[in-house]
Amino acid sequence: MSQIELKNIVKKYGDGFPAVNDVSLDIADGEFMILVGPSGCGKSTLLRMVVGLEDITSGDMLIGGKRVNEKAPRDRNLAMVFQNYALYPHLTVFENIAFPLRLDKGKYSDDEIRSKVRNASSMLELDEHLERKPGNLSGGQRQRVAMGRAIVRSADAFLFDEPLSNLDAKLRGQMRTEIARMQRRMGITTIYVTHDQTEAMTLGDRVAVLKKGVLQQVASPRELYEQPVNLFVAGFIGSPPMNFLPARVKDGALGLPFVDVPIGPELQEQLKGKELVVVGIRPEYIKDGRLGDNRSDHAVEFTADVDQTEWLGNEQYAYIPYSAESEVQAKLDELDRELDGEGMRPQMVVNLDGRSRIREGDEATLYFDPALMHVFDPESGKNYT
Ligand code: ATP
Repeated sequence: MSQIELKNIVKKYGDGFPAVNDVSLDIADGEFMILVGPSGCGKSTLLRMVVGLEDITSGDMLIGGKRVNEKAPRDRNLAMVFQNYALYPHLTVFENIAFPLRLDKGKYSDDEIRSKVRNASSMLELDEHLERKPGNLSGGQRQRVAMGRAIVRSADAFLFDEPLSNLDAKLRGQMRTEIARMQRRMGITTIYVTHDQTEAMTLGDRVAVLKKGVLQQVASPRELYEQPVNLFVAGFIGSPPMNFLPARVKDGALGLPFVDVPIGPELQEQLKGKELVVVGIRPEYIKDGRLGDNRSDHAVEFTADVDQTEWLGNEQYAYIPYSAESEVQAKLDELDRELDGEGMRPQMVVNLDGRSRIREGDEATLYFDPALMHVFDPESGKNYT
């Protein structure tokens, strides 16, 4: 078994603010876990503590049920796959994969090495390339050689630190599917650090979202998308991001910039004493009234002036400015900066079907299902829905 357990892990560099702050996370045997968050959130530090390249200030790190805090990296039996694959250009694919076995001098006979390399290469579909040098391989094949070197010594887990960030978009897409396929086939516990949410959403069985060293939510990609626990997660996951609209709490309703939306007694009760909240609606949940697709009986309709549109064939974006309550807008600006943005514009983005005829300058009729709307506390960021 190679589950990895993090128990109340803290990392402080010097006397400063903790780079990792009381993180607890259980990664199951064979699970693909993503660590994601904006720059400086502590994801690389966390990974480096798992590998043993960084001391743990406090907390316990367990691999396969055993505490490894004081174990040297080479005694943890983990395989780190680096951004540049760290292959030896002068060695063949065979020798690159065999390299970790040859390091353990005398431990393996030539026959054993040959058999282990063959096993790894057939799993990775590299059999035909064993005599080639890395310079003659595609990016995807090089990635597989790097993984081959990791699996040849039966590592308990794969650890990736932003392995695709140096590649162009097309190759990144190919490698992403390749890594996913390989990991599923081998079923090896994997921790993968990225700041790219497409990688997070497509690769992970579960995704752990970090902000300033603090774990915000650990969940499946779908759950993160549909049920973010707070404003930060809601704003981080999704592209274009969720719309955040300031809303005034009224009797039995929320006053959004364009329309009042009725709310049930339960939410009303939760919002007692609040004047202003932030309503979150994903761009694709707002629909063109003239198309009427998937319209529920509870849909709320409104009209709004469209400032700009972008038609992409299969879909269309419409940009709709609104006037905001300044207190809430200031909070949203702060949130946007935490997400590495430059401040939130009071503008709603709507992702419409490509058939939509809405154009710039139109007063558009739009609708959405209020069941798909999130309501956040502007102070704590907590999601009430
Ligand atoms: P990025 O995506 O930019 O690599 P990250 O989420 O991986 O960011 P870390 O590299 O883990 O973040 O850094 C977390 C925090 O710890 C940052 O504030 C960083 O400045 C700080 N930090 C990282 N390494 C050190 C170090 N060796 N000494 C002091 N502070 C450090």
